[in-house]
Amino acid sequence: MPELPEVEITARRIDAALRGATIESAMAPGINALKTFDPPLDALAGRAITAVRRRGKHLVVDASGDLSLLIHLMSAGRLQLYDRRASIKDRTSRLLVRIEGDRELRLREFGTKQRAWVKLLATDAVEQDDAIAALGPEAWPEPPEMQQLLAGQGARPLHAVLRDQHVITGIGRSWVDEILWTARLSPFKRGDDLDAREATALREAIVTRLGGAIEHYEGVLQLPLPDKLPLPLEVHRRQGEPCPRCGATIEAVHYEDYVLCYCPQDQTGGRVLKDRRLSRLLK
Ligand SMILES: [Zn+2]
Repeated sequence: MPELPEVEITARRIDAALRGATIESAMAPGINALKTFDPPLDALAGRAITAVRRRGKHLVVDASGDLSLLIHLMSAGRLQLYDRRASIKDRTSRLLVRIEGDRELRLREFGTKQRAWVKLLATDAVEQDDAIAALGPEAWPEPPEMQQLLAGQGARPLHAVLRDQHVITGIGRSWVDEILWTARLSPFKRGDDLDAREATALREAIVTRLGGAIEHYEGVLQLPLPDKLPLPLEVHRRQGEPCPRCGATIEAVHYEDYVLCYCPQDQTGGRVLKDRRLSRLLK
């Protein structure tokens, strides 16, 4: 799932390449991808792209004359710019925006599920759209003060509350593990139970890890962006490997559709948390 740093670098690279370019035509081959019908996609023809930007984990393509494409990649979507146009047979295509000079901006989605979506909206309606209006404050570059933010969120564990886009937007399964490891906080610590020192460490970890990832991508990524971005992760999906900071073994808790990783030495006072999948297997 592309999270804030991955969506940010995608927006930056495509913005640099397409700002000012004219759209020839647009179509949505995915049956479920386009969530709006008025204005029609044809309304984009002949307009210039004025910006490509990120909002939370969404991408926004602004066109001249007050029209914007709002795009959510969900877990398996990618927005990519190609020098050549897609074959009609490319079954991963969800949205094709043809650009003057044979280029094509393409929303593709991998896997069996069609979840990525697109809306064509008036530019000034983007912030009022249900998907955007419900978002919490951006996690980067200036996240809010965390003690205050999480105080009203009840007894939810940090690994869950930080991934709630209504509370703070941009963090998902990969970066939450990294942020909590950097802040030396247990993923199961209650979000409403942070002292001032912990809240400061958490906020700093959010800024440094998300910002650090974007900086990393700035150095290594050029167009065309690869399908799989090289995430600079230190603990996520590294269960069984030594912690890069203290050498203890990285442990994991498996959920139905994702895995949470942490360093017991640094984050849970040496305690290895119960792995529900493991305990089910042992029954
Ligand atoms: Zn460690």
